[in-house]
Amino acid sequence: MNTEQNGSLRLSELKTGSEGIIIKVLGHGSFRKRITEMGFVKGKNVKVIKNAPLQDPVEYEIMGYMVSLRRSEANLVEVVAAGNTSSLPDVPFEGMIDEETLKISAQEKGKIINVALVGNPNSGKTTLFNHASGSHERVGNYSGVTVEAKQASMKKSSYTFRITDLPGTYSITEYSPEELFVRVHIMEKMPDIVVNVIDASNLERNLFLTTQLIDMNIKVIIALNMYDELEQKGATFDYTSLGKMIGIPVIPTIASKGNGIDELLDKIIEVYEDKDPIVRHIHINYGNVIEKAIARIQEPIRENKDITDKYSSRYLSIKLLEGDKTTLHLLESCANADKIKDATGKGIREVETEYKDKSETVITDAKYGFISGALGETYDAGKEKNRKKKLDIDDVLTHKIWGFPVFIFFLWVMFQATFTLGNYPMEWIDAGVTWFSDFVQRILPEGALRDLIVNGIIGGVGSVIIFIPNILILFFFISLMEDTGYMARASFIMDKLMHKVGLHGKSFIPLIMGFGCNVPAIMATRTLKNRKDRMLTMLIIPFMSCSARLPVYILLISAFFPHQQGLVMFSMYIIGILVAILMALILKNTIFAKAEAPFVMELPPYRIPTLRNTSIHMWDKGKQYLKKMGTVILLASVIIWALGYYPRNVQYSQNYDTLATEISNNAQLSAKEKENQTAQILVDRESERQEKSYIGQLGHFIEPAIRPLGFDWKIGVSILTGMAAKEVVVSTMGILYQAGTDTDETSGSLKQKIAEQTFTSGERAGQKVFSPLVAFTLMLFVLIYVPCIATIVAIGRESSWKWALFSIGYTVALAWILSFMTYQVGLIL
Ligand code: GDP
Ligand code: MG
Repeated sequence: MNTEQNGSLRLSELKTGSEGIIIKVLGHGSFRKRITEMGFVKGKNVKVIKNAPLQDPVEYEIMGYMVSLRRSEANLVEVVAAGNTSSLPDVPFEGMIDEETLKISAQEKGKIINVALVGNPNSGKTTLFNHASGSHERVGNYSGVTVEAKQASMKKSSYTFRITDLPGTYSITEYSPEELFVRVHIMEKMPDIVVNVIDASNLERNLFLTTQLIDMNIKVIIALNMYDELEQKGATFDYTSLGKMIGIPVIPTIASKGNGIDELLDKIIEVYEDKDPIVRHIHINYGNVIEKAIARIQEPIRENKDITDKYSSRYLSIKLLEGDKTTLHLLESCANADKIKDATGKGIREVETEYKDKSETVITDAKYGFISGALGETYDAGKEKNRKKKLDIDDVLTHKIWGFPVFIFFLWVMFQATFTLGNYPMEWIDAGVTWFSDFVQRILPEGALRDLIVNGIIGGVGSVIIFIPNILILFFFISLMEDTGYMARASFIMDKLMHKVGLHGKSFIPLIMGFGCNVPAIMATRTLKNRKDRMLTMLIIPFMSCSARLPVYILLISAFFPHQQGLVMFSMYIIGILVAILMALILKNTIFAKAEAPFVMELPPYRIPTLRNTSIHMWDKGKQYLKKMGTVILLASVIIWALGYYPRNVQYSQNYDTLATEISNNAQLSAKEKENQTAQILVDRESERQEKSYIGQLGHFIEPAIRPLGFDWKIGVSILTGMAAKEVVVSTMGILYQAGTDTDETSGSLKQKIAEQTFTSGERAGQKVFSPLVAFTLMLFVLIYVPCIATIVAIGRESSWKWALFSIGYTVALAWILSFMTYQVGLIL
């Protein structure tokens, strides 16, 4: 384009041996970034080392380096060359062109900014165009097939603006010649800056076009025109915030009066020079299914560098999903066109089965969801609102005040259903596990193998399996909230509140999921695009008391707080949330300190969920939990069992066998007494054996560290094994506190045993281990310390192992400190 307009060339047109100075780099954002990193920046001298007509790549020398560029890349670099400056009117031509003249002419040409005005019909483009080019040097028409655009150039400061007034469109698809014209202009002529003229009195419809410009990943400035009308309506619009959220500077204008046009031109210069801090490329979030499809299509597109240098692969993928013929045609020439088509077909099918709607419609809906989210936070219609006849459902659900009670009610229903409905299948599974355990006990001969299967595997995994119904029900509700679109509203209303602790609304969903199971919660943080927000959320999710901690609470609360059960249970959840808030505040002000760009919280349209889809989504989340059962918990159970079962050749302090014989031979005892005493001896022996087993030794080893918390070595062992999964704390206590020789005893008798436990050594030997204070301290410790291996693994996979280790370290330290304080303060009281 520019060849005939301002006498500049493309780098690819330079002949071998000749030199040029770079004026600008065109093409798509990431290409520009890459090539500028290589040294191709405005004003730099570049020399062609070898450029044969059919040769690719071409070799250049820039800043003393040899660089080879593909011809398609070199075609996107604008230069001014020695033989070419004659066409410049400003530069005196004196036969010979020296370096200095070349520099000056390059500078001149770098000061030409090509601007395109894009916007809906009647948004005021032409008015703006006429005002801006008031002192125009040249106004001309240039035509497409059936439509035409006006062009004018004018000067301001040291810059020359070449402004093109494009035809008005509501969208940049391919339905009308105007739309296609605008699209070709943007994609092929590559203006330096696109000014998106928006009618401020009709923001929602006008911003739709903006979302398409965002997808294109080009430099955009919004002229918020007809600002007078917005003010007249009594509406308020925080356009600065909106600009920050979408990464596009917004300048209010009243084109008909010429207001704001100077500011707009200044902003154009600023953005052209890359000096505006607001400008950044954002992604509109189209939801999981579409995002997955986009990523899949991007992959084969990225193999075609000549394409991705010019166009954003994300944009092309979105277009393909919309079924855009022009894009399909463009990509037809690619070597891997078939692969791209396959990925597209697959993506469209997936989107359409998920949403039961055309994928184009789904994408449009998502764009409007993005817009209503963005406006929901920044736009207040003021008086106009009262004129609206129909009350919108979102007027209640995202209301500043009414939104909260509704939300809390939904949460209450969710947790209520989780625990009440979940109790029935829980009992059945419990009965099934017991039956199976007894069955195996009966058919297998006594020995290590039977012990492993019954006490290790069935005992360990079985104590966890019973929570599956609760977890699935919880996930069903969460999926339901997501599928209907309500979850987005919940995040939206939580956003302001979350900001106070340095998080934002989107962190809220993973945190809520954490109450079910931390593992899928960690994975759910993927919706957070900002790395710091994501890390921070991952690090505090473990304080959301997951359902695995419930058995510990139930056991200890029923044993030591029979009269305040509900209250103590509730306090655990609240303490967890408070600790999370506290840690978020601390981390945000230390490790993760840094201002970050705000972003839009989409409000997607409400959808009627199908049982099938919601069940699939529930299952996707539940699978993670089941996997944990089959892997980590199984392995941990076996290890813990082995550590407790071996060594077998224990040196007992007394001969239990003789004691047993003595009892059975004692004629003074009744049959009933004999039975009881024999049972007691067996328990005592097993207890001593446990203490001398590897795990017992380990417990004794860490005892000094946990004594200040009021814990004995058995609690120590339970805490250690609980790192595998928190339910294991209870099953370990079941083994160590020996509620009878049968470890499958119900917690009913386990809780009595716990209450009777005494210290076996140390200065407190003989005293009771547990008191309500110790029980509370232990619950607190279990709440806060290392969530479980599966969660740690999830953190490691989603971030890095460094963070996984950090998570272990800081949760243990925090648990110890808080438990210590609680216990010591409690003792004084
Ligand atoms: P285009 O279709 O985008 O080129 O829009 P026009 O420039 O033709 O403008 C459409 C109408 O809006 C004209 O009557 C303008 O006078 C009017 N207009 C343009 N800008 C403003 C503005 O900032 N405020 C108001 N109130 N009217 C404007
Ligand atoms: Mg017009």
